[in-house]
Order: sequence, then structure tokens, then C-alpha cells
Amino acid sequence: GEAQGSAPAAALLEILRETFGYTEFRGQQQAIVEHVTGGGDAVVLMPTGGGKSLCYQIPALARSGCGIVISPLIALMQDQVAALRQNGVAAASLDSGQKADEARSVLAALHAGELDLLYMSPERLFASGMLERLEGIDLALFAIDEAHCVSQWGHDFRPEYSQLAVLAERFPQVPRLALTATADGPTRQEIRERLCLDQARAFVSSFDRPNIRYRIAQADGGRGGSARDRLLRFIREEHAGEAGIVYCLSRKKVDAVAEWLAEQGVTALPYHAGLPAATRAANQTRFLREEGVVMVATIAFGMGIDKPNVRFVAHLNLPKSLEGYYQETGRAGRDGLPANAWMVFGLQDVVTLRQMLEGSQAGAERQRVEQQKLEAMLGFCEITSCRRQALLGYFDEHMPEPCGACDNCLEPPATWDASVPVQKLLSCIYRTGERFGAGHVIDVLRGSASERLTRLGHDRLSTFGIGKELDKAQWRGVVRQLLARGLLRLDDEGYGGLKLDPACRPVLRGEEGIHLREEAARPEKGTRSASP
Ligand code: ADP
Ligand code: ZN
Repeated sequence: GEAQGSAPAAALLEILRETFGYTEFRGQQQAIVEHVTGGGDAVVLMPTGGGKSLCYQIPALARSGCGIVISPLIALMQDQVAALRQNGVAAASLDSGQKADEARSVLAALHAGELDLLYMSPERLFASGMLERLEGIDLALFAIDEAHCVSQWGHDFRPEYSQLAVLAERFPQVPRLALTATADGPTRQEIRERLCLDQARAFVSSFDRPNIRYRIAQADGGRGGSARDRLLRFIREEHAGEAGIVYCLSRKKVDAVAEWLAEQGVTALPYHAGLPAATRAANQTRFLREEGVVMVATIAFGMGIDKPNVRFVAHLNLPKSLEGYYQETGRAGRDGLPANAWMVFGLQDVVTLRQMLEGSQAGAERQRVEQQKLEAMLGFCEITSCRRQALLGYFDEHMPEPCGACDNCLEPPATWDASVPVQKLLSCIYRTGERFGAGHVIDVLRGSASERLTRLGHDRLSTFGIGKELDKAQWRGVVRQLLARGLLRLDDEGYGGLKLDPACRPVLRGEEGIHLREEAARPEKGTRSASP
């Protein structure tokens, strides 16, 4: 970088044009670049593909000194450095795969003040002597990429990320920015606290992807054939010859589905961590370079893949969380043209995911959090209202109108009048003191007395045994849908205790009826009706 201080907007625009070859800033990029160039700290939330990299690359060039980028992904780092060098930027990386003399020459360039940007992993930053080294060097900024890795409850938790708070102490004059595409409300708060960025300005971009159409169906039920058959029909009828990604939960299923699709004449390739590195690399290259390749993959595939014309992302299994679903479906339609997010899942997925959770080595609290994320995912599948509204709502973004393009908007699903069961459930939660989880409340409703239930005196409640018309699974479906609609909340302690949201009052008092999705839960002789 060259000129210190607040560079005029024109100078920043010139870097965008001259160095990166773009004509204008996108979304909040300009505001972020100006703020950071002027020395401010920032927390940047932007969806994948939104253009986070320029938010630190341009300030690093505009300010004097070298910008340090902390990133957990070595492969991504190397791609970025290569792309920057092509644009004439003096960029380098320090990573574990490097030879000693390579690393030495990078460090020499750093000390000579020849670098604009230096990428490294957090491990490398905290390796012996690195912080001391940096203290003697003119630094333009610190960019902390994938900042959600600091969240203990996230899927990508990296212990070293929690140590990044020391940057605030040791380099108080150097602006810091944290960037992520994955952050629900609690994660955002965690990023601010753990990275000492509570004073930083937040730049929250919309997570809306208006060109993506969301469609979700349940496989069981016989309609439309097996999930695999439905996938094939979807590809043939809507995406013949187009690029797409099909996500499966297990490696075995990836292999089987890829092979089967290929037999049916689809150009399909497998990708998962169990394949030899050379096969993975070759398949990835074909997906990126050729037209119309369908990649069948586990979630190991996708992070950092920048292919703009992926026309569909299909899920043959339920993702573990809505964050995961959003990330994975977000790989479709980055060019802004129409794209489909299509999913057919089986209830067996729920069982498998629960078993994986229970069998995991994670602590009890972590398991509870993941359990709740899974419930939120299921609730999302079962809602009958606009999917895009619900998805954005999960990320605390309010969308005033239904999208008019998702499956629920286009073909309102069949529903049943669940007013009476829902009233029973809500009163039972109220009577038991809004402290118990779904399992306990359902036992009370169904009149299944256990020792604990009797000890609590819950077998003497007026709501004991009034809900035998639904089985356990059906009641769980009702609970999930109410959670998804915000009529019920989970308590903050993370124990899964159900609480009434004020929004449920009209239903509880019988002033408003409520209809729930049919597949999810319906009593044997329940009243049915078309959508409300
Ligand atoms: P993210 O890190 O948020 O996923 P990237 O920084 O990788 O996103 O950018 C995504 C894509 O958008 C890249 O291909 C990038 O070159 C492009 N891009 C970013 N900013 C602009 C812009 N202002 N104008 C045009 N293209 C841009
Ligand atoms: Zn919609």
C-alpha cells in the first residue's frame, strides 16, 4: 500500500478499476473499504459470493504497510494469492505445506516492506516469534476471514481463533476486520466478544438470494417415486446439460448415486474425502472447466468453489442445520440467473442424524445445541409458509412479503386443521411451567406416566392424557412446526425447554385457528382441509 490516512473515494475506486478490473463496488463494499482504509474496525457479514475479499484487499493496498489475512483454509489462501499476483498485487502466503526456503523468502519480503498482502493460518500467526516479528513491521490491517470459526458452537470451531483477541492488545493502532458468511444472532455476538470487536462497526449485507427457488419434499409417502428417481426426473426435465451439485450424507451414497446417474446418461462425478486426492482434484477440475457436469458430493465439496453458473443444488439428505443448508444452496446461481435449491429427504435421515449426534464425542451441551439446530432444520422443511422468508428470518432478516417463487408460495401445501391439538399442546406447556422439553410434554399429553412424571405430579394435571389422538412422532412434528413459526421458543439455557411465545396467545385462546402441513403430522381421523 501507499498513501496513509483516509484515501478519497476516487482513489479507492481507481484501485478497484485498475487493479481488479471491476467497474463499480457491489453492495456495501464501498462503505466497508472507506471505513477500514480510514483506520476503523469492522465486522462484515456477507453471503458467500458477495465479495468479501475486496473489503480487505483494497484497504490493504490503499494504506501503507502490509495487510495480514488470517484464514483457516490453505487451499483457498493459495488460490487467492495466485489471483492477486495475476493482478499485479504483491501477495504471499505462509502455510504448513511450504518448503523452508520458500517461507524464508516470504519473510524477507515482509521485512523489506515489499508485500501488500500476507495470508497465513492462525496456527502460523501464533507459531514462535511471529507476533514479535510483526510488531517490528508497518501493518496496513488484520483481516480475520471465516470469523465464525471463533464460535464454540459452530461446526467449524478452531481453538486458535479464540486467541486472536490478542491482536487488539498488541496492535491497537492497526485496524482489524472480521468477515464471515455464516452468522446467526448468537454467533455474531460471539465474534464481537471473542475478537474484542465490540466497538467495531457492523456491516450486515442482505442474505437474500432472490434468484434461488427453494423446494423441499419428503421422500416417504410414495408420491413421485424414490428420491433418486425424483432427482433424475428433476435433472432431465429442468436441468438437462447444466451444471449442478447433489449433496448426500455418506460417501457410500455419493458413490452409488454418481454411478447410477452416470448409467442414466447424466455426466455425474463423485467427490468425497475418501477418494484419492488425484481423483478429487481431477473431478473438481472437470466440474469447473467443463459445461454441464453434475458433482455428487458430501459437504466436503464446495467451500471456496467459485463457479458462477451452477444451476442447481440438490440435497438427497437433510443437512444438519439451516446454516449448512444456506451455505450449500448458496453455491447455486452466483451469476444472478435463476437457479434451483431442490431437496428430497427421508425421515430416516432424521433418525440417522440423531444417532450420529448421540454417538458423537461432543459434550452434552454441544449435543443439545446441535440437536436444536437439527430441529430448526426440520421445522423449516415442514413449514407451509414462504421458505425464503423463513430462511432469512432465521438469520434475523425481515422480509416483508412472501417471495412468490418457492414451492410453498407457488403450490400451497395441503394442510390440516390443527387448532385443537395445538391448543392442547400450548396449555400443557403452560401448565407444566414452561420448563420441560418436547419429550416430557408429549408424555404428559399422551398420558404416559413415568416415575419422574409422577414425582413431578404431572399425572394429576388437567392436560394429562388429553392428546392420545397423535402419536409421539406426530406430536414432535407439531412442536417443530410451532417452533419454526415462532409460536414456541426454546429456553436460553440450551436444555431444550419449551416456552410460549406471546405470538401464540390468539391460538391458545381459540381466537385464531392454525393449519399445519399434512405430511408432517396428522391424526388418524383428524379433520382435513385445503390450505387456509
Ligand atoms: P466471498 O469471499 O464473499 O464469497 P469473493 O470475494 O470471493 O466472495 O467474491 C465473489 C466473486 O465476486 C468473485 O468472483 C469476485 O471477483 C466477484 N466480485 C467481487 N466484488 C466485485 C465487484 N465489485 N464487481 C464485480 N465482481 C466482483
Ligand atoms: Zn416463497
